Amino acid sequence: MENMKTEWMGLYPEELKQALSDMGEKPFRAGQIFSWLHKGARFEEMTNLPLSLRQRLSEAGIDQPVTVLETRVSKIDGTEKFLFSLPDNNCVEGVLMRYHYGATLCVSTQVGCKMGCRFCASTLDGCVRNLTAAEMLGQVQCANQALNGERVHNIVLMGSGEPMDNYDQVVRFLRLVSHPEGLNVGLRHISVSTCGLVPQMKKFAEEGLPVTLSLSLHAPNDQIRRQLMPIAQRYTIREPLDACRYYIEKTGRRVVLEYALIDHVNASPDCARELAGILRGMQCHVNLIPLNTVKERNLFGVTEEQVRAFLSELEKCHISATRRREMGDDIEGACGQLRKKYLREDPT
Ligand code: SAH
Repeated sequence: MENMKTEWMGLYPEELKQALSDMGEKPFRAGQIFSWLHKGARFEEMTNLPLSLRQRLSEAGIDQPVTVLETRVSKIDGTEKFLFSLPDNNCVEGVLMRYHYGATLCVSTQVGCKMGCRFCASTLDGCVRNLTAAEMLGQVQCANQALNGERVHNIVLMGSGEPMDNYDQVVRFLRLVSHPEGLNVGLRHISVSTCGLVPQMKKFAEEGLPVTLSLSLHAPNDQIRRQLMPIAQRYTIREPLDACRYYIEKTGRRVVLEYALIDHVNASPDCARELAGILRGMQCHVNLIPLNTVKERNLFGVTEEQVRAFLSELEKCHISATRRREMGDDIEGACGQLRKKYLREDPT
């Protein structure tokens, strides 16, 4: 990373204390600095700190790592899509959805992604780098600013990137974003989605973080999953499902299985029955998403009738399932689509 300055917001309060005492400053300032930073304040706004301290903080590090480069608002449902700019001028996307149960922000965890799923726009140019915890927090703060009084209530780590491939910073983000003196977003209101990195999923089950784990399954068997997701060459479909069972056992929380319906690939009633078979007895919920067609790939979404037929097949087999609402269809709401467009338009 070009920017070698400390991102103060990425430190836990005790680390901030330590950093202050290493600088010869008073450690009790850590609490004040922590709550300022997590409110989204800039150094110059931290008016209860001595000017000299603010200057030293600013020389050694940065306050807010993320700014909004571009915003698009959906005329259909008010969904907002942000293009966020990072200190090294990379950019990532975030999507803010207005649900009746509160504002939900989709946060990115990496610039790009290296998992190579065939249907996903985020992975087309590979992974540039991991995001830091501070950069994930910054996305939430930018969304809070756009909300004008209301605040982000739910977070889904479903923007670009594979959270389990950036494990340490994602765990740090989860602990910081839920900190009572910080943004204070309840862990129970956070979903972490993975394409199925099995060892990390198991480790994650032991972190004591009561978030919702989502597995991007997208297939009822290995043969179809391997056509869609390179990760399925490394782990058979059983393995991430077993890791989900372990997660359920450890946390007592039901997992969510994401299933993007793709015409002529995984959307037949036979696939639904096969899916029900592999999920039998598991405490889970299936989220069906009609594939958001990505021009660069030859994979297409399905009709409403196909979604309904698939859903009713699952229901017949007593599998809990819903169709996920598509938001922001008119603003390239799906993963990586806006960033791709931006990179095409502006080749700097
Ligand atoms: N890497 C993580 C999280 C990011 S993707 C994961 O794989 O889960 C968030 C979700 O969007 C995943 O379920 C992913 O499979 C899905 N997705 C990606 N491209 C899509 C598309 N074109 N249409 C519908 N869902 C898509």
